Formats: sequence, structure tokens, C-alpha cells
Amino acid sequence: MAKVDTDFSTRIDQFGLDAKQRSSLASLIKLCHNHLDSTDEEMITRAFKLCCKSHENVTRASGEPYYEHPLEVAKIMAEEFNIDDVSVAAALLHDTVEDTPVTLDQIDELFGPAVKHIIDGLTKISGVFENRDTKQAETFMKLLLSMAEDIRVVLIKFADRVHNMRTIKHLPKQKQLNKATETMELYAPLAHRFGLFRIKNELEDLCFKVIDPNSYKFIGRKLREKKEAREQFIDEFMDPIKEELSNQKFRFEIKGRPKHIYSIYRKMQMQQKPFEEIYDLFAIRIILEDPHTKEDCWRVYSVITDWYTPIPKRFRDFISVPKANGYQSLHTTVITKKGRKVEVQIRTRKMDNIAEQGLAAHWKYKEGNSSGNKELDKFVHWVRDVLDAPRPDAATEFVKDFQLNLYQDEIYVFTPNGELKTLPNGASCIDFAFEIHSEIGERAIAAKVNGKMVPLRQKLKSGDQVEIVTGNKVNLNPDWMGDVVTHKAKARLRQFTKQKERRVANEGRDIWEKRAAKGKVEITDQELTKVAKRFKFNDTQEMFYEIGTGAFEVNELFKVVKQLKSKGRLDKDDEDEFKKDQGATIPEEYYKSARSVGDGNALLVEGELDHVKYSYANCCNPIPGDNVVGFLSRNGDVKIHRSNCKNAHHLIKTDSERIIDISWARNIENQFLGAIKVIGEDRVGLVNDITEVLSKSLQTNMKSINVNSDGGMFEGIITAYVNDLKHLEKIIKRLERIDSIKTVMRYE
Ligand code: MN
Repeated sequence: MAKVDTDFSTRIDQFGLDAKQRSSLASLIKLCHNHLDSTDEEMITRAFKLCCKSHENVTRASGEPYYEHPLEVAKIMAEEFNIDDVSVAAALLHDTVEDTPVTLDQIDELFGPAVKHIIDGLTKISGVFENRDTKQAETFMKLLLSMAEDIRVVLIKFADRVHNMRTIKHLPKQKQLNKATETMELYAPLAHRFGLFRIKNELEDLCFKVIDPNSYKFIGRKLREKKEAREQFIDEFMDPIKEELSNQKFRFEIKGRPKHIYSIYRKMQMQQKPFEEIYDLFAIRIILEDPHTKEDCWRVYSVITDWYTPIPKRFRDFISVPKANGYQSLHTTVITKKGRKVEVQIRTRKMDNIAEQGLAAHWKYKEGNSSGNKELDKFVHWVRDVLDAPRPDAATEFVKDFQLNLYQDEIYVFTPNGELKTLPNGASCIDFAFEIHSEIGERAIAAKVNGKMVPLRQKLKSGDQVEIVTGNKVNLNPDWMGDVVTHKAKARLRQFTKQKERRVANEGRDIWEKRAAKGKVEITDQELTKVAKRFKFNDTQEMFYEIGTGAFEVNELFKVVKQLKSKGRLDKDDEDEFKKDQGATIPEEYYKSARSVGDGNALLVEGELDHVKYSYANCCNPIPGDNVVGFLSRNGDVKIHRSNCKNAHHLIKTDSERIIDISWARNIENQFLGAIKVIGEDRVGLVNDITEVLSKSLQTNMKSINVNSDGGMFEGIITAYVNDLKHLEKIIKRLERIDSIKTVMRYE
């Protein structure tokens, strides 16, 4: 938790604004009252003071004080998006954490978690806009939402860009071009995808002005020249309609604004026509005031088409079938008595707000609306559910603590070229490698995430930029199975494991065939299958695989085959007879030898100190003090496992007759390998502290330490030579006392 710095908040509250700042603040607060449901003046004032104080003595390229920029962004938030006062406060503070010494904790302390989360989200997404592939607006939008978690973060990002573009003329020409191109290719399509049409149009015009100033000026001048004629034409066109609508008691507004400059330019390009021949330079929009409904839109349509002739193929009903981003309207093009084509759009006030403000407007309407896009649809439905909640204050609360729960089952990551890839949540670098190309997946040897080398198993998160380092050989590891989630990676790993098993089994078969030839034993596959069954293998393949890995001695197989052959046992096809022989595969002399061989000074076998050949299982590394069991292998050695070891459990279940009781002798001089897992917060000198504790205060020899630190977290696996369980427990207790270490446990 942040320590409450009362001094800091007092300093902010007592910060003196100059006359100009005071009047700016007053007009911002007035704007909020005009556009928002409720305005926390104290919060806005505080945010403005912190904004002015933290950017003190900094100027923009234009020469004006820096605070003017966040102030303008806050005004756009209030005026354009009019969502809530929290987003206005956050807009005032949007550059503080990145550019000034102000911390997130301080924001939290002064403004609470909602503002803090927005600022945090802005910081998180600040990198992802740079040098990106621009053809993937849809995926990019999901990436933004999944990273930012809050639509207000995205809206502030747009408002920020709008103001920067409005004031771009103060930058050097080259920078202007860079910014304009980036805005045109990324921000404008994104704004379109979010349904922020007014923002999109403004951004396009501002960019066009930088990129092609001559065409911009030319079209602008033409539009101004025709302004009077246009307005006169609209009046003439609408007069009879207005009269009829008023007679029918409609309440409405008529807009006849020209289309934005860039869209006219694009039309000229696409249709290869001069300005004069572009007929739909403007559209007439009829907006029905509340409480008019969509049925009323149809009634207006019929009034218009009673008067003017519609062109059927230019009719669009976006009311019954809204666009993916929620846009609703009726569009029709009609012909005037003088033969001129005019586009007319008919919609309700609510539809108009959604058309202009997109997603932002969805927030403010209880009914939401059903759109073609499944995810947006889900979102809109969810908004509706929350807004329809029985408690009257639920809506306000919702806006205050809004968290987007969208797109949480997918992550969006970048290739080195800035291309976006969609992966299921939980995907690792290995999944990513296979997503790029199966060959990349097969040859991957390491990965770089955001420029840092990481293990291939590392899980990815939205916004990561991932680069796969490949070798020239296939480098698959069957153990990766638990680290992949995509079908592609899983299928290839499974196939690889099978191929590898087959290869080892073939090697095993070769070993057997050589041994059989040398011993002059001839045996059919059918007979071999019987022998394999006696050894409790499912089939010969499994047996050869174990011979190939060395787990099963070929001589043992040879001995039994020869024995059975000489007794003529393998000729019989009688199952009952066959069953009687089961168990003979573990000859009694093995038990006897197990009790009489070995040099043991470490363990008691079946209660009495004995000379037995033994070794410790690598899978669980037992140490004196652990509960252990022995497992009699086919050659008479005893393998010692911890009794909670998974492999031991398996053996107890399948081969219980080969399990031997083991207990530790009292004085053991050997040392044993123990593994310990350490988790904590990463800091300078942590590894040093760990090794010091082990070597100096506990006189323990360390074999290895493997460290993985990520996002401030530290995870280490230490293997060390210990005398017994007590020793290991002592190490664990001691490591737990090291500063910033959170968990220490025995690593299984
Ligand atoms: Mn900014």
C-alpha cells in the first residue's frame, strides 16, 4: 500500500493558479456541467492543479505552457465523448506519470483507483502504437481493449492525438509528416472501428492538410465558394419537407454539412472525376428529437419520397440491420425536380449520437443496440444488463468502476515486423513460434520477448513483441507438451514424441536382433509378443523401446527367451498354460541376490542391515530422513525412491511384488542432492545473499542455481548437497528470512 503523503496532497491543494489558469479551470468546469451528468468540481480542480504544477516551467513546441495540452484533451473528453468526470480528470493527468516525477501511487492517493487505473492503462498502451502494421485495425482494437481494460483509456488516447494533430503546425515539417502518416494509417482506421466518426473525419482532414496541402486547400476553397449556393439549395430542397413534417407534428433538426475534405478527395480519386462532378458533396440529415422512434424514421422517409423520386438501388436500411460498430440510420438518394441527386439520412437523436460517438455513446443508452459484431454485441448487452440493474445508482457506479471484461480468452502479440498475431490466453513462446510457421516452431531454440531473452516455455501477454531464435536442426522437446495450448504446437509435439519412440524402439530391435544372432536363437514375432507380455509390456514395440533406452537389459530378454525355448514353452498356444508361467519372469534368485549383494552402509533392507547394491532415483532425489521405498530392478539392484514420488506410486501399483521396505541407517556419511525452490521480489544482490547464506552460515555446498526473473519477480531453483532432511529444512528456514524472499519450498 502507498504510504499516505499528506504533505503532497496539501501542497497540491494549496498550489496557486495564475489568473489565466483560474479562468481556464472555470471554463472547463462549466463545460463539464453542460455535458456530463455529474461533475465532482473538487476532483477536477485538484487534477488541474496537479497538472499545472507537475508540468510547471515546461512549454510546448508552440511556446505555450505545457498544461494547455492536457487541458485541451480534457475539454475534448467532456465535449466530444461526454462520458464522466473521472475521464476528464484522467485526461488532465494523462502525461504526468510518463513525463513528470508524479507516481501512480500518488495518483491513487489523490484521486482513487478509477483515475489510477486509467493512467496505468495509458502507460501500458503507450508503446504499442509505435511502428505498427496498420492493416489490422480490428485486431489492434482488441489488443487495446484487452490491455487497457477500460474504454476510457482508449478515448483519452484518441483525444490526445486529436489535440496533437490540431497543433501540429508548430512541429518541424519532417515530424509533421511522420505524425500525419501514422495517424492516417493507424488512428483514423481505429477511430472508424470504434465508431468514432467525427473524430475519424477530423483526424483524416488534419492529416490530409499535412500530407497534401495543395489538394486540401483546393477542395476547401471550392467548398467555401459553393457554401452560399449549397445552403440556398438545401433550403429550397427542404422547405416543402419541413412544412409537411411540421404539419405532422414532428420535432426535428436538419443538418446539411458538407462531407469532410478528405472523403471528397477520395471520391474524386476513386471516380476519377473533377470536383464539379462529385454530386454528393453533402448529405442532408434529418434528426428526430426524443421521444421519436425508429417507426417515425420510416414515416419521414415516406414524406420525402412522396415529394422526391428515390433511386431504389441507393437505399440503405441501417436501422433494421445496423453496421458492425452500431451505426443506425436510413439512407436514401432522391432526385429533385431539376434532376439533381441528393442523399438524405434519417435517424433519431440517439442514433445520431451513436453515429458520431460510437462506442462511447453506447454507454449512455439503456437499450444499447444489437449489432452485427459478436463481441461488440456481447459488450453492448453487458452494458445493458448493468444499466438495467434494479438499483438506481448502479449505472453511475458502473461508469465509475468500469472494467472491460472483453477479449480475456485471447492475447494479441506482435511479430518483430509489428504484425499482430492472435493466440489463446496462456500461449507460450513455443505456441507463437508454431503460429508463425511450423518450421520456426521445430527449430526454435530461444525467444526474445520485448528485446529480452526468455525461455521458450515463457507465457505471453497482450502487447508483447516476440522474436524466435532458430537453429538449423529440429529442436523439439516432448516435455513442452505442458507448455503449449495451440492445436498446431500440440499436434507436432505429439507426432515428434511418437517418431522418437519409434526410432528408439527400432534401435532396441537392432540390439535384440544382434544379441539373438550372436546367441543363435531364432524366434518369431508372435513368440516375441508372448515374451513381451510375460515381462508385462503391452507389446514388443514397448519392450524394444525400453531396450533402446537401456531401461531393460537385452541379456535378460535373451536369457528368458532361451530358457522358454529350451523348455518348449513358446510353442504352446494354450493361454492357461501361459498364465501359469507368469511371474517366472522375475526369477526368485533375484530376490535372493538382492538380499546378499551390495556394500550398503546407508540403508536397512527389510529391517536388517544388509549388503545390497542400491542407487537413488533421479526423479525424486531422496535424502536421509525422507520416507522411502526400494524397487528391485530386473538385474537385482535396488532403486530408492521417495514414497511420495509419482514413479514410485506407479511401480507400487503395477509391480508391487518388487517393492522392498527401506529404512535409513542411523549414521550416514554421504551427502545427498536436495532441490529448493525460492520465490520472491527481484532485487540487486539477491542471488548473492542466497549463496552467502548457504556457504557461510550453513556450510552447504551448492551444486547449481537456476534463476528466472520476470516483471520484478524472482524464481530460483537451487540444488545443494545436504546431509539429511533436517539439514534441508534448516536451509529452507534460513532462506525464508532473507529480505524480499516470499516462499521457499522443497522442489519436487
Ligand atoms: Mn499528451
